[in-house]
Amino acid sequence: MPSYLNADLHCHSVVSDGTLTPEDLASRAKANGVELWALTDHDEISGQHRAAAAARAQGLPYLTGTEISVTFAGTTVHIVGLGFDPDNAQLAAGLAATRGGRGERAKEMAEQLAQVGIRGAYEGALQFVGNPALISRTHFARFLVETGVCRDTPEVFRKYLTEGKPGYVEHRWAALGDAVRWITEAGGLALIAHPARYKFTANEEFALFSEFKAHGGKGVEVVTGSHTAAEYVTYAAMAQEFGLAASRGSDFHSPDESHTDLGNLPLLPGALTPVWELLQDRIRH
Ligand code: AMP
Ligand code: MN
Ligand code: MN
Ligand code: MN
Repeated sequence: MPSYLNADLHCHSVVSDGTLTPEDLASRAKANGVELWALTDHDEISGQHRAAAAARAQGLPYLTGTEISVTFAGTTVHIVGLGFDPDNAQLAAGLAATRGGRGERAKEMAEQLAQVGIRGAYEGALQFVGNPALISRTHFARFLVETGVCRDTPEVFRKYLTEGKPGYVEHRWAALGDAVRWITEAGGLALIAHPARYKFTANEEFALFSEFKAHGGKGVEVVTGSHTAAEYVTYAAMAQEFGLAASRGSDFHSPDESHTDLGNLPLLPGALTPVWELLQDRIRH
């Protein structure tokens, strides 16, 4: 399996905060020339059988996937899992516990927004939710755009829902070691998602990569819709320094919101070990 494969191993469906169904994503991935696909809904794997069946119907090789929310050094970090058994009970229970606090958090977010004059945000966000267990900031962002409070989702996250802004609620997600263990013990491979997004200091980032490796983590996203071209180079070097395999994924959420479409990314730098090399026996054809 070559490093120049058009693999897209990160995207979201209506099962979390995407706007397309797993079936529509499979068709779109196929139409865009994706050669290996994974659906990675936040803290959820209930779309996995649908995604795998849709991929098979399209003749599109598939890896199971998820993106777990973790709290590390006081920051939310995302850990992607690929190639696990989608019926693993420990993974399902860990994800259920991780997403458990989302309902209460959403109500607190709405209370804060009400204090700055934005009413009905909880009910408004719920209108955009495909899975009641997975209400996220993205659904609030869609409500704020629809009601004209903001022009687009980037403006929402500049003015609201982020640290220090109205609608931001501190939340404790899974522990790094637990997330890596749930994925690994379910037969999968754990990756650090979009590392450039965390704005860590060099020391914090070193701690994340070292602890992740110590827990059994195996890979890192290098080419992602969340990184600039300069960041591809930075994290290609980090992958080599830490002996991690490299992944590639658009993080596609919606045709209206995402600037990177499925399959529409530069190839992985050739010197890296692609994660799909380590997952060959987990690919579903
Ligand atoms: P949550 O898991 O509820 O904290 O929501 C996190 C989601 O919000 C991410 O997965 C993104 O889809 C979205 N998000 C976070 N920050 C931004 C941003 N700056 N611009 C656009 N979307 C964002
Ligand atoms: Mn998201
Ligand atoms: Mn993420
Ligand atoms: Mn994502």
